[in-house]
Amino acid sequence: MPHLALNGGEKICNLEWPAWPIWDDRESNGLLSVLKSGEWWYGKNVKDFEGKFAEFQNAKYGITTSSGTAGLEVALLALGVGAGDEVIVPPYTFMATASAVLRVNAVPVFADIQAHSLCIDPNDVERKITDKTKAIIPVHLAGYVADMDRLNKIGKEHGLFLIEDACHSWGSQWKGKGTGALGSCGVFSFQASKNLNCAEGGIILTNNEELADLCRSYTNCGRGKDKPWYEHYVLGGNLRLTEFQAALLLAQFTRLEEQTLRRQTNAEILNAGLRDVPGVVVIENDTRMTRRAYHFYPFRIDSKALGVSRERFIEAVEAEGVPAGVGYDRPLYKNPLFERKGDGPEHCPISCPFYGRKIDYTKTSCPVCEQVIAETVWIFHNVLLADETAMHSIVSAIRKVCENAGELL
Ligand SMILES: *Cc1c(COP(=O)(O)O)cnc(C)c1O
Repeated sequence: MPHLALNGGEKICNLEWPAWPIWDDRESNGLLSVLKSGEWWYGKNVKDFEGKFAEFQNAKYGITTSSGTAGLEVALLALGVGAGDEVIVPPYTFMATASAVLRVNAVPVFADIQAHSLCIDPNDVERKITDKTKAIIPVHLAGYVADMDRLNKIGKEHGLFLIEDACHSWGSQWKGKGTGALGSCGVFSFQASKNLNCAEGGIILTNNEELADLCRSYTNCGRGKDKPWYEHYVLGGNLRLTEFQAALLLAQFTRLEEQTLRRQTNAEILNAGLRDVPGVVVIENDTRMTRRAYHFYPFRIDSKALGVSRERFIEAVEAEGVPAGVGYDRPLYKNPLFERKGDGPEHCPISCPFYGRKIDYTKTSCPVCEQVIAETVWIFHNVLLADETAMHSIVSAIRKVCENAGELL
């Protein structure tokens, strides 16, 4: 008799998992009130949200953007990172972390990640610094805060900007301080899949007033603060949010703290339950994180010990009624964008004549990242909003698959 649901055995969970996004009258009322006011454009709600979110993350200034991607580009522009500069980024992230660097004509240089945090490895960052390095973009992957103590120290020693890609870390804290303004500045995303969502949107946080004003200018057509409307100072874009999006964000924001804590508590139940399951490796939290967001709950499997591929493992877990996925399926440098071979701009993402060097991404190797990518399983953030009993059934499902992995051969 097979045990695994994939083979016709009895399924562990028959739960309806919480859907995403979550919304109620708060969203409808907010949207309708903007509609009826006739004031749809970049006004009171945007300002209100910028202030509230910045305060929540312990930052002085918040500048909303049309997306997290746009926010990263603006942060680089405002810090003066540009043609010929190198920026150190991790390869285990969404493309925007590296493409934003390319979009300002700078050169992404990949540093490996740590297996225990899934975030950028400060030791490898140090090895990748050259005379061209201008900035580091750590990604707080799945809400796990990169080692900001080490990174800030390295940044200070070498005169580098630290831009946090905080696009997974709404609510995460490092030693009691929110992410986003732990370095030079940080960027969050409010795209539809994110834990705080208005379909598309983003925000840059910083404690530096001058930088904040410059970011505002870049997102608002290069206008100056308190300057004539048709006077333009920098090569900006139109990257503003609308009042409708801000109304959605204000409504979603009322649930953020409670949802963040719920996911954190549930993730701790998963950690406690999975820690002693043979074949599973739990990602243990750094105690310097005083609060942690979960954009997803990642864990690793030892596919050698279990004798099954991660893909097969996920199939079996899903058959037990637990939604799980692969997530980022390759290091960024294994994307066709970076793998183009040969000479000439059509073969290379770097078309900057100021760089004066050649970079061949097909030679990039981040072995820890490659290993992690082959073994990591993601459980998405909406699943972590279910109740405690549901968390115990996730543990049972994963334990069952591990104990019966022989059935998957
Ligand atoms: C979502 C995301 C972004 C980009 O945000 P958008 O709002 O989708 O442009 C950047 N970095 C990471 C790590 C992300 O997950």
